[in-house]
Parts: sequence; structure tokens; C-alpha cells
Amino acid sequence: VSPALTCRDGVELLMDYLEGVLPEPLSRDIEAHVAGCPRCVAFLEGYRETPRIFRSATAADVPPELAASLRRFLAGRR
Ligand SMILES: [Zn+2]
Repeated sequence: VSPALTCRDGVELLMDYLEGVLPEPLSRDIEAHVAGCPRCVAFLEGYRETPRIFRSATAADVPPELAASLRRFLAGRR
């Protein structure tokens, strides 16, 4: 394991780690750091929650006709 990661290094790396795009040696460093770091554990848990909440809020709040007109709008801009 390379020199201990700090939490400041961690945030961006954690994102990549969660996306699964981190190369193997780095993701092992992340796992090693998170294993001993309650702050990063809390961050990971919060990050995992966010997209789910965001998706359900979007699904509930956007009526189909609005979603359709948004798609037309975005298609028109391309
Ligand atoms: Zn940390």
C-alpha cells in the first residue's frame, strides 16, 4: 500500500472509485483508507444515497408531458 491517502485526496478519488473507473492499485488504496476513516465512510454512504433520492424526486416531480417537451427542446438544440 502506497503512502496513506488523506481525506483531501480522497474526495475526488472516492468519486472515481464509486464510478468504478479507478485503476486497481488506487482503488485498493482507497479501500485501505476508507477502512480506517469514519469521515470517508460517512461520505461514501452519503454519496450512495444521493443519486437514489435524486432519481425518485425527479420521477415524482416531472410530469410525462414536461419530460417530453424537455426532450424535444434538447433535441432541437443539437
Ligand atoms: Zn478519509
